[in-house]
Amino acid sequence: MVNKIHHDRHAFIDGAAQPTLSTGSKTIRAVDPSTLEEIATIYTSPPSTIDRAISSASEAFGSWSSTPPVERSRILLRAAALLRAKTHDLAILETQSTGKPYSETSTVDIPTGADVLEYYANLVASGGLNGESFPLRTSAWVYTTKAPLGVCVGIGAWNYPIQIALWKSAPCLAAGNCMVYKPSEFTSLHAEELVKIYKEAGLPNGVFNVVYGGGEVGSYLTKHPGVAKVSFTGQVSTGRKVAGSAAGEMKYVTMELGGKSPLIVLPDADVDNAVDGAMMANFFSTGQVCTNGTRVFVPKTMMAEFEKRLLEKMRYVRPGDLFDEKTNFGPLVSRVHWEKVIGYIKHGVEVDRAKLLCGGSGEVQGLPVSMRKGLWVRPTVFTDCTDEMRIVREEIFGPVMSILPYESVEEVVKRANDTPMGLAAGVFGKDINQCHDVIRQLEAGITWVNTWGESPAEMAVGGWKQSGVGVENGRKGLESWVKNKSTLVEMGGSVPTVFAKL
Ligand code: NAD
Repeated sequence: MVNKIHHDRHAFIDGAAQPTLSTGSKTIRAVDPSTLEEIATIYTSPPSTIDRAISSASEAFGSWSSTPPVERSRILLRAAALLRAKTHDLAILETQSTGKPYSETSTVDIPTGADVLEYYANLVASGGLNGESFPLRTSAWVYTTKAPLGVCVGIGAWNYPIQIALWKSAPCLAAGNCMVYKPSEFTSLHAEELVKIYKEAGLPNGVFNVVYGGGEVGSYLTKHPGVAKVSFTGQVSTGRKVAGSAAGEMKYVTMELGGKSPLIVLPDADVDNAVDGAMMANFFSTGQVCTNGTRVFVPKTMMAEFEKRLLEKMRYVRPGDLFDEKTNFGPLVSRVHWEKVIGYIKHGVEVDRAKLLCGGSGEVQGLPVSMRKGLWVRPTVFTDCTDEMRIVREEIFGPVMSILPYESVEEVVKRANDTPMGLAAGVFGKDINQCHDVIRQLEAGITWVNTWGESPAEMAVGGWKQSGVGVENGRKGLESWVKNKSTLVEMGGSVPTVFAKL
């Protein structure tokens, strides 16, 4: 039995929650999506509070940026250990806030966030921020150094709240920057837990501050002259606005945006494995994963067998009590998102006229009474889809798979790439040379062979085309939190000049 506590959330600045700075501010009612019970009141941060958060981070920057990397690393490693020790409580909160099953939040969201913190703490302690030096000629050499950027802003989406907060703050703080973080207005609860963990680990006050609210707070942050960089995760349409306002002062940006990723089953693939991959790529986290492989391309000759195996396995998708360890499928995150996903399913049936293999817009059967008001949707599969259907072209961000038959590998690569997005892609097949050849041709930043979805700390991830700018994680991910300085040293004793006396 899980305790139900009502939470209040106020901006967290200078090492403390600041209820006095919320006076007169608007509030957001946060609900548990599985039941629609209210779980928290979020006090949005007015401009004066956001200014305070940014100046607090700016004051902390001098000392934090000059703290040796190895000392920063020790603090971040302590925070990672605290995250692991508190996984159970954090996962409960994340489950209540997002509607993801506890079986998922306790094994993926919290641990993979902690992994990234550990990764960057270790990286900066072992020379990850070192520059290079090389001789230019006998009398001159060049060296480079990496400097932190200053006060950075992190803006999160609602689907992986604490993980996104960690994927942004870990490299940011490890590199010597300070951060003002704004979680999504739909899933804000983790932010105060994270800032308290950082504080307990010894992070100086002001290095990581939290403000709350929706688009207006995000927009104020991205335009703020005290901000050096914006790291954003969200929809392509919002990303355009964020990049636009950050461009005013040439702020650095990282954009982790949406996708409509192709999953290609090659003719020699193991059907069982490919079906498992397609299910992970569409129903994990109730389909609310940016890298979802929602366009599943299957050889025409394999369609019947693929559909049969898929239908057999659909019974393993288990909605239910989120704290029952057998539950592996939760509700959607919010009413507005539920309406959007249901709208796409109806459009698929009524306008696209796609063939519904299973699921649909009807009620989810067999839920406990307490959950019947929740934002549940059936895991849905459309088959025999065609490329021009709206359900095939637009990001739905819910548990809706489209199966598209194809005839030749040459044709499927072309069709897979026929989208303005390029976040992820993958292939299933036995001929590994063919798999690599297809991967080489796919226009996406994150790709998988014979698996789907794993995104470890060591692997840089970021979208191509309209799916993003820059990467997160891996060694490359650290580079986007520093600026480079190159220094040329002349040791010849005199400046090579054209302004000498003739
Ligand atoms: P969203 O774009 O609606 O909101 C994201 C964040 O932006 C929220 O915190 C929101 O308050 C804020 N925001 C809204 N308007 C803003 C503005 N004008 N200026 C600044 N901030 C603003 O996205 P969402 O619905 O929360 O998240 C789902 C989307 O995120 C999907 O498209 C998904 O693919 C994408 N996503 C991408 C990745 C990735 O790594 N590529 C990861 C997770 C989610």
